[in-house]
Amino acid sequence: KSGFISIIGRPNVGKSTFLNRVIGQKIAIMSDKPQTTRNKIQGVLTLPDVQMVFIDTPGIHKPKHKLGDFMMKVAQNTLKEVDLILFMVNAEEGFGRGEEYILEKFQSINTPVFLVINKIDQIHPDELLPIIETYKEKYPFKEIVPISALEGNNVERLLSQIKDIL
Ligand code: GDP
Ligand code: MG
Repeated sequence: KSGFISIIGRPNVGKSTFLNRVIGQKIAIMSDKPQTTRNKIQGVLTLPDVQMVFIDTPGIHKPKHKLGDFMMKVAQNTLKEVDLILFMVNAEEGFGRGEEYILEKFQSINTPVFLVINKIDQIHPDELLPIIETYKEKYPFKEIVPISALEGNNVERLLSQIKDIL
């Protein structure tokens, strides 16, 4: 089994922290350098029974940038071509325009999307269900997975859910 996975989310939601945890220090540091390619491979996780290729999709997670039609199309095509999209959000922050912008881009594609609610170590357990309910109304996510990329909570479970869909 193998597949391409695009991690999408606003700055600071924890994308690099997640990649660091699942792939390792070196590659995540490289991914913070200025991007020279359109669809950058951020890292490859090779397990005995599955290989996951994580790629970045520039253009989708920069809602404040006015992008040309071409770049927007490139980003959109990438989303169509990957096997899975991980849409990462910060549990500490409410649903905002940045999230709305990204969800709009998902409307025209058939790629499955997992909602990854990160930083659950920062919230009270009672706060989780309302967040899940809010997002459920916005988009038909294939899975909704709360994690802490920093502390590792639920990360193994997310990897196993990714594996199941590839
Ligand atoms: P990116 O911009 O999406 O790549 O976000 P980063 O991975 O750089 O993380 C942004 C900040 O959030 C850093 O200070 C991380 O240490 C912190 N962070 C990431 N994941 C978590 C988490 O699960 N819990 C907490 N408390 N902090 C986190
Ligand atoms: Mg980053």
